[in-house]
Amino acid sequence: MEKLQLLKEEILNCKKCPLWKTRNNPVLGEGSLNDGIMFIGEAPGFNEDKQGKPFVGRAGEVFDELLNSIDLKRERIYITNVLKCRPPNNRNPSQEEIKTCSPYLNEQIEIIKPKIICCLGNFATDYILKKFDLKDKIQGISKIHGNVFNVSTLNGTIKIIPIYHPAVATYDPNMLKILKKDFENIK
Ligand code: URA
Ligand code: SF4
Repeated sequence: MEKLQLLKEEILNCKKCPLWKTRNNPVLGEGSLNDGIMFIGEAPGFNEDKQGKPFVGRAGEVFDELLNSIDLKRERIYITNVLKCRPPNNRNPSQEEIKTCSPYLNEQIEIIKPKIICCLGNFATDYILKKFDLKDKIQGISKIHGNVFNVSTLNGTIKIIPIYHPAVATYDPNMLKILKKDFENIK
């Protein structure tokens, strides 16, 4: 879609926050524009920054396994991140970086008009709950995962589903079971 192509070119040249200095490739996101389901992660990691694609590293492997577990094809979803450039050493995004980068994510949401937004981890969850005036619902992902929030918008109702970030299963294998249960919610 042309609007997303324009966004892609825009982030290629983006220097709005300091992350442009250390990135190799910005990662806009990719996937289906027609199925109404969007996943939002945190920020590109090492492999994503190398390839310019979302969730292609170890967290991506877990993510694919989770999609498989509910028989959802990656081609049927759109996947992106809160930040489009990798923070050095995968440190957490700063609030300033999120604020500066979020217009890109907002535009993606405008274009895709998702019916379901799955937030992977705390940063995506907090950002999306704030955006849709559910700030009072914000609590850590360990408490909030498993909930589904419905918000009415001009484009219809959106279901917001907070989920643990798939990366947690790469350092704690027990988390995979919990993640699979969260994914069952999407079905
Ligand atoms: N972690 C994320 O949040 N996003 C990616 O694209 C990869 C790892
Ligand atoms: Fe621009 Fe976002 Fe990259 Fe910062 S992280 S340079 S705001 S695209």
